[in-house]
Parts: sequence; C-alpha cells; structure tokens
Amino acid sequence: MKRKFLFSILIIGLLASSCTSEKNSAFELSSDAIVVYNGTIINVTNGEILKNKAILIDSGIIKAIIDYEVLKSVVDTDHQFDVTNKFIIPGLWDMHVHIEGEDLVEDNLALFPVFVAYGVTTVRDMASDLGEQVLAWRDEIEQDKILGPQIFTAGRKLEGINSIWKGDLEIANEEELSAMLDKLEDYKVDLVKITENTLPGPLFLKSVQEAKKRGFMVSGHIPIDLTVQELVDEGFTSIEHASYALRLGSDEHTIVAKLKSSEITKEYANELYASGFNQEVANLAYEKLGKSNVAITPTLIGGKQLAYLDENNHENDDYLKYLTNRFTAKYQWRIDRMANDSPADIQARKDRYQLIAKQLPYFQEAGINILAGSDAAALNTYVYPALSLHEELVLFQEAGLTPLQILQSATINGAKLMGTINTMATVEANKQADLVILNSNPLEDIKATQDIYAVINDGEYFDRPELDVLLQNAKDRKIQLDLKRN
Ligand SMILES: [Zn+2]
Repeated sequence: MKRKFLFSILIIGLLASSCTSEKNSAFELSSDAIVVYNGTIINVTNGEILKNKAILIDSGIIKAIIDYEVLKSVVDTDHQFDVTNKFIIPGLWDMHVHIEGEDLVEDNLALFPVFVAYGVTTVRDMASDLGEQVLAWRDEIEQDKILGPQIFTAGRKLEGINSIWKGDLEIANEEELSAMLDKLEDYKVDLVKITENTLPGPLFLKSVQEAKKRGFMVSGHIPIDLTVQELVDEGFTSIEHASYALRLGSDEHTIVAKLKSSEITKEYANELYASGFNQEVANLAYEKLGKSNVAITPTLIGGKQLAYLDENNHENDDYLKYLTNRFTAKYQWRIDRMANDSPADIQARKDRYQLIAKQLPYFQEAGINILAGSDAAALNTYVYPALSLHEELVLFQEAGLTPLQILQSATINGAKLMGTINTMATVEANKQADLVILNSNPLEDIKATQDIYAVINDGEYFDRPELDVLLQNAKDRKIQLDLKRN
C-alpha cells in the first residue's frame, strides 16, 4: 500500500477531546493526508448511515472517522473535501474478471485507470493467458508504480489437455497436477482456478483436494461428472457462474452416478438438467450450501448480453471508445458460435437467463455468500471492463436482491472470501482507504453506483474532473493503439 513519508507532522493528543477510546493517541500524518467531510457514510454491513462526520485518510488508510471540528486544522484546506449531500460507500469489488489476451498487453494496461474511474478499486482476476503479466501488474499496482484497482489473481488456471482456453495449465495426471501447483505456488497466486472443458471429473476433484492441502482457495466451474456437493465437501471456495447451480434443481446424484457408470452421455445429462429443474429441490440444496462456506459468483451480465443479442445493437455503445479494435475483435467468436441459432434456441437462451437470475433471492435466503462479478474479459462479448460490474449490480436488483444486499455482494462479501475483511471493504478506521462518493443514495436504487462524484483509490482522491481525465486518457490511448496497428 501507499507509503509516502515526504515529511510528517506529529499530532499528539488530537483526539483526546472527542474520542474517549483513543485518548492520548498520536497520528503521524504525511503531507498527502486528506479529510473528507459532511458526507453520508453508508455502513454496508448493516445498512446504517452515519452523518456529520469527517474521514481522515493518510498513506492509503482511513485513520479516523470523527468530528470535522477536530480535523479541520490537521490538514491544509486544499486537502479537505466537502461532500455535503453525497453518499460514501466502500470501493467496489469485481470478483470475476479476466485480464487477458497475449496481444492485448497495452490495451489491458490502459484500462486499469478506467476501473478506478468507475469506482472499482478491487478486482479478482480469474486467470488468463497473461498470467505472469497480471501477477507483475498486481505487484506494480501494490507498489504504486501504476494506477489501477488492487488485484487478486489466479494467474493461470488448471485445465485438461487440449482445452479450448489459451494459456491454461493443462494436466493429464497427478504428477502434472503436482508440477503445476508447484508453479502456482512459485507465482504466489491468490487462489487457484479450475475449469472443466477437458479436465475429467476425477482429476478435477483431485486438483481441488491437492490445492486445498497446500492452503489455496479454489474456485471454478463444476464438471458434469461431479456433483456440486462433492466439491463443496472438499472445501471448494466459490462456484463461478450461477448456471452451474441450476443442476441442484435436479437429482444431480442420480444423474452423475449414471454418467460415471456410462449409462448416459454428457449431452443427455445436460438435457436432463435443462428439462428437470425443480425450484423446491433446488432450494433444499441451496439451504445445504448456505451452511457450508462455498460462495457463488452469478456472473449474470455475460449471459444476458448473449441471450438478448438479437434485441440489442451494441454497435454504438458509448463504452467502445475505450476499447481497441483488437480488443473488440475478440468479441466475434461468441457471436459466430450463436449465428445458426433458431428462434427456439434464442428463446431457450433467454428463458435460461431468466431462470438463473431468479435464483439470486433464493441463494440469499439460504445464506449463501453471493459475489458480484462481471466476467469482464476480451473474450466475453460486450461485458465491458468496470462498467459491466455496475450492470451486474442492476441485474441483481432486477432479480430481487435489496440494494444493501447488492452493496454487500460488491464489497464485504468479496473481502470475507479473500480473508481481508479486517483491512478492507468497509468505511471504518484502520481500513484501506478505497471509497466511492456518490451523488445519490445507493440504498434507494443501486443504479446510484453509476453516479460517481469522486473516488478515493488507495488513499488518493480523484474528483469528477480528475476521473474524467483518466477516462479521456483511456480514450486517447485507444485511438493511438488503433492507429499504430493500422
Ligand atoms: Zn470467467
């Protein structure tokens, strides 16, 4: 985190008069210390609001939240920000992105400040073909060498041989699994991601077990030849994509048993899951999941964009001004894949999207930790970096979650999962100073997260004009990169 000790001012006993618990405390403040006052602070843990307090921030940390009168003379007036009538929430977390594309290094780099400008101050990168580069970026952001959201990353993901994914770590047996886990340990990844394109269930399960033994969090997809419960029993950290949870609406134990004994094919198993969904059966299974520690990242927006492609023309989307032609060229494969869909296929896709979205309130009721994650990636068509997290939150609201539950999904739920709740994700003293200041109240309508007045990223204050400069720079960079490549 940011540590700037240009020169320090020692303030002794500053709080003695206003805060009994911090009597005789001393702050060592750098010249970068700021005070943000008069805002309405939202406690995302319980929905309570705190008014008429000032937030003292220095070296990337919230030092205190106390009366403005006490802090007024502590920092220069040009380091004081009056945010009357504004709403202060923790910086937002996007718990599922892919910073990917071997030929998109410059493109991805240019998008980091866009995340900050959109109030997304933490992302969980769920693996990509840029694994080592993302790990380097994670560290450079941490060391303040580049501006961007704090990154947690899986590096490269585990898969089977000849999968469709580029740059994954493909394994055929336990020896290769062990070698790849050694590699991920060397990389110091923040979690292990596993997907099932060609990785068979038994080796997938073994991968989860071995990664857990080494102390890793393990997130990913659910192979068709394993039950959700089998993975949860092994301590699976999070199920990525709520579509996999739909299997819980069928008798997955019987279906998986039949698959394992080759009584049915994978295609037929998928048909059974698609046709046999029963909400009551699903809810009973969710209840069980709620008692475990497994989280779910629904990633609704990607499925929505594809399902409704026939109704929405994205050609003139404003966000495209930040994305290079090379970046958006990657969108085409999913569009091509759907090119021959019949009207019935298109309708089935929409119905499936609606059914997945409908599960969210049931997850919430069951006490499952829901993580807001967009799946933003160059390979995920029209799932725009940073913006799509906000769109995901709106879809959560349409699905029936309350604004408070949604704010939790994009702040504390992620921090709880990553084990950083003591230092991140709420507006409280001694936490990292990642904050978003909104013009309207997100507890009334979650769309307020898109109405950003200012962002504090790692203790650094960006007012609206400064955020607009970040966005303008990204737009200029896109034009430059496109020209250079022509
Ligand atoms: Zn993904």
